[in-house]
Amino acid sequence: MKSILKKTFSRETKFFGQSHKFVFYVNKKFWLVFFFYKSLFSILLIKKIDNPKLEISRNISPSICNNYKKRKKNSCQEKYLFFFCSKGDNEVERKEKKTAIVPTREEDYPEWYQQVIKVSDLAENSDVRGCMVIKPYGYALWENIQKHLDLKFKETGHKNAYFPLLVPKSFFEKEAEHVSGFAKECAVVTHSRLEDDGKGGLTVGGELTEPLIVRPTSETIIGASFARWVQSYRDLPLLINQWANIVRWEMRTRMFLRTTEFLWQEGHTVHSTKEEAMEETLKMLGVYATFVREYLAIPVIEGEKTPGERFPGALNTYCIEAMMQDKKALQAGTSHFLGQNFSRAAGIKFQNKNGLEEFGWTTSWGVSTRLIGALIMAHSDDNGLIVPPRVAPIHIVFIPIFKSETDRIVVLNYIKQITIALKKIRYHEESLRVEVDERDLTSSEKNWYWIKKGVPIKVEIGMKDIEKDSLFIACRNKQPFEKESISQNFFLANISDILEGIQRSLYEKAFQLQKENSFKIDLQDDFYRFFQVPKQRKNEIPGGFAFSHWCGSELCEQKVKEELKVTIRCIPLEAEKEKGSCLFCGGNSEKRVIFAKAY
Ligand SMILES: [Zn+2]
Repeated sequence: MKSILKKTFSRETKFFGQSHKFVFYVNKKFWLVFFFYKSLFSILLIKKIDNPKLEISRNISPSICNNYKKRKKNSCQEKYLFFFCSKGDNEVERKEKKTAIVPTREEDYPEWYQQVIKVSDLAENSDVRGCMVIKPYGYALWENIQKHLDLKFKETGHKNAYFPLLVPKSFFEKEAEHVSGFAKECAVVTHSRLEDDGKGGLTVGGELTEPLIVRPTSETIIGASFARWVQSYRDLPLLINQWANIVRWEMRTRMFLRTTEFLWQEGHTVHSTKEEAMEETLKMLGVYATFVREYLAIPVIEGEKTPGERFPGALNTYCIEAMMQDKKALQAGTSHFLGQNFSRAAGIKFQNKNGLEEFGWTTSWGVSTRLIGALIMAHSDDNGLIVPPRVAPIHIVFIPIFKSETDRIVVLNYIKQITIALKKIRYHEESLRVEVDERDLTSSEKNWYWIKKGVPIKVEIGMKDIEKDSLFIACRNKQPFEKESISQNFFLANISDILEGIQRSLYEKAFQLQKENSFKIDLQDDFYRFFQVPKQRKNEIPGGFAFSHWCGSELCEQKVKEELKVTIRCIPLEAEKEKGSCLFCGGNSEKRVIFAKAY
């Protein structure tokens, strides 16, 4: 070994509150570090790769890195990644590595997001460009979102129906603004069959007389049905919802946030008066806001979109905006007041009480699988996904710990008896969703598997716990090593409260983030500084929500969009009237709007 590796230096340092000795050896590619931990002898192999240098300080100890830098007179150019060759258990390994997700949020937020989806097994990219496969765990999450929302829709008087996936081109052409808004992202069906090309392949045949568009939204096709369903004021209001898939030909896609095909619901309603349609638009916005706050534990701001950001063909678009952990905004749901535009285009007419014919007033509103993207980015950490209990596919997972076959039977029986008791307990009006991990894996592997999947409560049970009639629990909103031994009785009596506590703490944390990164900004210079990253602080994520005055002109809105990639997220519904001057042109402004970078 000595012929390959050159000993550089050794050092005693405090690490995890104890004194440890490190001995550093080096060759061209690796640092090999002998590391003494809890009197166990371990070896660290640190691979040299390009660029930054402080990686080592986070993983080992600042003093070692400084020592190294001093020796190199700060000329150190390498980055050190950690590979642990210890014989100690995986928990120690992770403890040293500190995060289960590489890179961390701070290092590379977009890549961290992709990794969370991967390790938690929510979804994967498919062979079809821009389309994702939602895996069982991700789909279970969507089903929970769907279930609760569906209940809210029904409670507010809506009924579900289903309309065709394919929309005739002529339907789209009826509403000019609508067609121009969606034209660039439509998948179009032009042929109806495949034919043998005589060379062992296939060619398309049966050209359609009228192309069909795969729905990018369903206002026009649903409008055609509504025109048949609505005859008299007695048929109104007509309150319909559809759960469906949508195709929008996106150039840049990202799982759950922007995919060519996605799942959603779209509400479509017809009313006899403008006031009633507007009331419906805002009511459904409220349903979304409450759901996202109470179930997904994400604070949102309700507001109106500027004319430039409206849904194509709508008179007003309202939205809920949330802040993600990188301080960018995410539009989590929209509700549109469509006026009579679509009813004129589709011919939705009714006879009023006086026998006169009128066009109906319509609305549409939707949320999609994007909510899962919002949930991931609002709560997850550097160890993986964190799911709010109210929508979690699994509330509690049990990890049995045993050394022998006899112990295994005892432990599993003990767990079985607890799960039977748990099934009688209701959490937030639902049965508890419990899983026992009996797979042939080490307890450490299982532990990390469930941490990465973000299950709210993880319970370890071994023979020692059974002797004390207790269990060892870890809550996902805390650090992985914060575990607590509690009695079985206490656990059963308080499980609902523990889950609600996690739900609440996630909301509070997200609320705090939004609060700490929201600022009233009144000077243009401050505004530009707020959204730009100083070169010397490359890793810092700039921005947040800037509450600033805007004159209402599209020119000022465009300017910021082009120069900073910052958009007006919304004009908050609760914004107080406050006279001010536009940050960009000095024009009059009546209230503050929210500017942010957005997904
Ligand atoms: Zn202006």
